[in-house]
Amino acid sequence: MGRSSSVPASRFARGSVTRTDETAGPEGTEAAGAELAARLKPGDVVLVSGELGAGKTTFVRGALRSLGVEGPVTSPTFVVGHMHDGRRGPLAHLDLYRLAGMAGEDPGLLDPFFADDTIAFVEWPEHAEDAWPAARVTARVRLAHAGGDDRRIMIDR
Ligand code: ADP
Ligand code: MG
Repeated sequence: MGRSSSVPASRFARGSVTRTDETAGPEGTEAAGAELAARLKPGDVVLVSGELGAGKTTFVRGALRSLGVEGPVTSPTFVVGHMHDGRRGPLAHLDLYRLAGMAGEDPGLLDPFFADDTIAFVEWPEHAEDAWPAARVTARVRLAHAGGDDRRIMIDR
């Protein structure tokens, strides 16, 4: 009664929505990152998956720029993560590609990136699942090559 059609049943947790976008270049992927960023609040964790070159860093760059980061946003490849000062608080950008799980690591290694006031973006989350509080994960992003410069972006929220 006066309502638009209901959200289709989802295989994800109740209340979650999957959205798929296609972009034809890095600008579109940055814009998708910015659009997600507009919905985030301090403490949120965003997991960003996809193979090398899929556009994970590009997506995070768009998100961080829209949250007020002005310097370069590059993949933190030789360190676990970078911290940035955002307009609304601290921002963390992690890349766990080189991390082979948390076994053998200082258990507190990632803690500074997941402070309560920090919005964190994690590339290669598969390499250290459970290294952050599951309840803080507010979005899972998956990027995939779709031919040439096309990319498919799936966001579960
Ligand atoms: P990842 O972090 O997943 O390894 P990057 O974002 O570092 O990937 O690199 C993606 C590369 O692909 C960049 O060189 C970017 O310019 C290029 N590219 C081309 N088309 C797209 C697109 N539609 N979205 C994102 N990146 C794209
Ligand atoms: Mg990257």
